[in-house]
Amino acid sequence: MDYEAFFGKQLDTLRREGRYRIFIDLERQAGSFPRATHHRKRGNTEVTVWCSNDYLGMGQHPDVIAAMHEALDQCGAGAGGTRNIAGTNHHHVILEQELADLHGKEAALLFTSGYVSNWAALSTLASKIPGCIVFSDAKNHASMIEGIRHSRAETVIFAHNDADDLAAKLAKVPAGTPKLVAFESVYSMDGDISPMARICDVAEAHGAMTYLDEVHAVGMYGKRGGGVSEREGVAHRITVIEGTLGKAFGVVGGYITGSTAMIDFVRSFASGFIFTTALPPLVAAGAVASIRHLKSSSVERERQHENARKVRARLDAVGVPHQDNTSHIVPVMVGDPVQCKAISDILLESYGIYVQPINYPTVPRGTERLRLTPGPLHTDADIDHLVNALSEIWSELRLARAA
Ligand SMILES: *Cc1c(COP(=O)(O)O)cnc(C)c1O
Repeated sequence: MDYEAFFGKQLDTLRREGRYRIFIDLERQAGSFPRATHHRKRGNTEVTVWCSNDYLGMGQHPDVIAAMHEALDQCGAGAGGTRNIAGTNHHHVILEQELADLHGKEAALLFTSGYVSNWAALSTLASKIPGCIVFSDAKNHASMIEGIRHSRAETVIFAHNDADDLAAKLAKVPAGTPKLVAFESVYSMDGDISPMARICDVAEAHGAMTYLDEVHAVGMYGKRGGGVSEREGVAHRITVIEGTLGKAFGVVGGYITGSTAMIDFVRSFASGFIFTTALPPLVAAGAVASIRHLKSSSVERERQHENARKVRARLDAVGVPHQDNTSHIVPVMVGDPVQCKAISDILLESYGIYVQPINYPTVPRGTERLRLTPGPLHTDADIDHLVNALSEIWSELRLARAA
């Protein structure tokens, strides 16, 4: 086989469909987020980032940076091993206590990323509980799907955010069967929020465990940043709450929280936890500083939600179509991969605005979009510049305006 030709042909297909991924070479500027330097052969430029998942700018927070400097000087660069063999640092232990407290749970377990936490926890629970059937929301994240698939457990997909469909599907399974309902709080591409209390009602009525991905909500919802489950007062009803340290907390890493026995079970059986080097202690220290800050400070999330409201109102005023939702995510709908990429290119080249086009397979074909993530650090001038740019591009490309 001509391997090189095969790789080239596959990539050509992506390019032809307008969904070949180009990573832009950025250097974020601590102290002036959301500004970044765009490295280019033709000369560097400054851009404003409008699609970051460092939702609250915690990646540049002085407390976080100071804690990381201190831990680096104290403990050195890496963890020095897996958690089992020499790698458990005091900073990991403190962080797990902080996370358990954040969600009002007995215990927590760290992973190297949110992706790994979903993959490892779901594959372990669903494969090790004999006869377990997984009920998975139709729009669950790739990391959950991969974890469930790897478990080889029987899987039932229920309609997105539809507690009635979930109830109907649970009812078809014999009462004594172990069941796990996997869903998210804020769905990151549409920005819609699940009916969490209803899902808990249904799961409890059928004796099912619940697994909740709060990745796009931790730090941003609830009085202490405990996510939508904190805001809705249902955290105590969820068996496993999973989250990331890489988005609103501004660092990197993933975790699950829950009962002492469940966490100890995953710790003891999950390959994706056991056989990998622990996170650097400085990362854990930075995450602790970030979580602690957001437990007591609400100004970041308030300003974030205020800026999301402003962006929506300004887009409405000029008729640039966006999908409505009750979260902090503003999806500007384009519906065509080539056009989506073209808009993103013009924003970058002519306006110094960076928004990555979101194409298939991240979203279904025909729903291509620009996913805006307004944050507390965007200024009114940034918002004006963004909306004016979009409006001009909408005219230039003769795109349909919303009524
Ligand atoms: C980003 C994401 C993850 C993975 O988290 P990382 O820490 O980035 O690996 C998990 N679930 C959802 C819904 C996500 O969007």
